[in-house]
Amino acid sequence: MKVSMTVILSVFSALLLSVSLAANSDPSLDKFLQCLPDNSLPSYPISEAIYTTANPSFESVLQTYINNRRFLTPTTPKPLAIVTALHESHVQATVVCAKSHGLQVRIRSGGHDYEGLSYVSEVPFVILDMFNLRSIDIDLASETAWVDRTLEEGATDIFYQWQQVSTELDKELFIRAMPQVANGSVEGTKTIRISFYGLFLGQSGTLISMMNKRFPKLGLQQSDCIEMRWIESTLFWFDLPNGTSIDVLLNRPRGAQSFYKSKSDYVNHIVPKEALERIWKMMIKAEPMWMQWNPIGGRMSEIPDTATPFPHRAGYLFKLQYSINWREEGTEATDRYISLIREMHDAMAPYVTKFPREAFQNYRDLDIGSSPSNQTNFEEAKEYGLKYFKGNFLRLVKVKGMVDPDNFFKHEQSIPPRWA
Ligand SMILES: Cc1cc2nc3c(=O)[nH]c(=O)nc-3n(C[C@H](O)[C@H](O)[C@H](O)COP(=O)(O)OP(=O)(O)OC[C@H]3O[C@@H](n4cnc5c(N)ncnc54)[C@H](O)[C@@H]3O)c2cc1C
Repeated sequence: MKVSMTVILSVFSALLLSVSLAANSDPSLDKFLQCLPDNSLPSYPISEAIYTTANPSFESVLQTYINNRRFLTPTTPKPLAIVTALHESHVQATVVCAKSHGLQVRIRSGGHDYEGLSYVSEVPFVILDMFNLRSIDIDLASETAWVDRTLEEGATDIFYQWQQVSTELDKELFIRAMPQVANGSVEGTKTIRISFYGLFLGQSGTLISMMNKRFPKLGLQQSDCIEMRWIESTLFWFDLPNGTSIDVLLNRPRGAQSFYKSKSDYVNHIVPKEALERIWKMMIKAEPMWMQWNPIGGRMSEIPDTATPFPHRAGYLFKLQYSINWREEGTEATDRYISLIREMHDAMAPYVTKFPREAFQNYRDLDIGSSPSNQTNFEEAKEYGLKYFKGNFLRLVKVKGMVDPDNFFKHEQSIPPRWA
């Protein structure tokens, strides 16, 4: 996938900048705003990219890319300004000016960070927002089939067979298992329903004969498969109805829909059936928490674990995601739901990696260690760094020391520039 930049020009720069400058009382912010035009190309006026709290659109620009309502409350710290870069020179100017005037920068692309680190800080900060730079070229040609099979009875047996085969299937096939609490057939009881979601880069006939040999317990049939172009399968993963136009991919987000908290784990041994039964019981206690089990294997296992920062490759079976979503406002609800997911995560300790108990960096989780907003403590960083990156963490520290020795780019789980 190639990403290139879209440039949008603006013409009303001087007027807007002088309006926003007049409205600010923070001296660092004023200096920052004055610095921006001096450090960006006049042919791409930066003034149209700047939103301060004095701007009527500030709140909507801030909120559009907040994905988690946990970080959209009256007490959530807000940025002093948002620079919605329209050109790469705006990115450079924001970094140079924030650095020279002592403001922290939080960089936001999609705003999907589970812990809101791209748009929240406890110290005075500005957001460098990248949402205008969003032109993407993709290959539309590939044909794909996917499977959605939901099973309630005998689910443990099917899940057990899935554990044995899912990491060793054809490289073109990915099957995720998603256990969730559901109503049982007797009124008032609860059970576990396991959904299997798959993506196969090929035709459904090939998939069915492969599955009949390797994963017969799933009982896959032609009617479970839908053939579509790869680009259309991205809508399926987003739970959009089959047939939705791919034009929806161009829509801006609708803003945060719910509060949520997620956690992760890695599994490197098949979980026995009796343990699975215990896990399902724990899940029923932790409702409405749900889990995703994602197989590793395939192309991921062929890449050496030192080739990129991501180390969880050959030898790993599954990456787990735990997630809990809620809509009730207030700290009481937040505390209750977060306790549920933490208890579930604690109870899973016997079945997952140990020393360290590893985690997936994309599923950001501040419970596994964090530093204050404005400093990066090496001992703390080692806690989360070894879980996310294993041995690659120390190599990342070396790189960080070379490219950002002053530790200007930082957040609660960033990489420190040196050992101490
Ligand atoms: C609904 C949902 C579904 C998800 N599904 C998956 C999934 O299937 N698989 C998966 O792996 N992950 C998934 N994630 C997690 C997601 O991949 C991570 O949250 C990822 O970091 C999101 O990137 P972003 O640009 O949207 O986030 P942001 O919140 O904008 O940024 C994430 C982090 O990267 C930094 N950053 C952003 N842009 C830049 C930049 N240009 N330069 C330097 N630093 C930058 C931010 O400061 C922040 O620290 C999902 C998240 C959500 C909310």
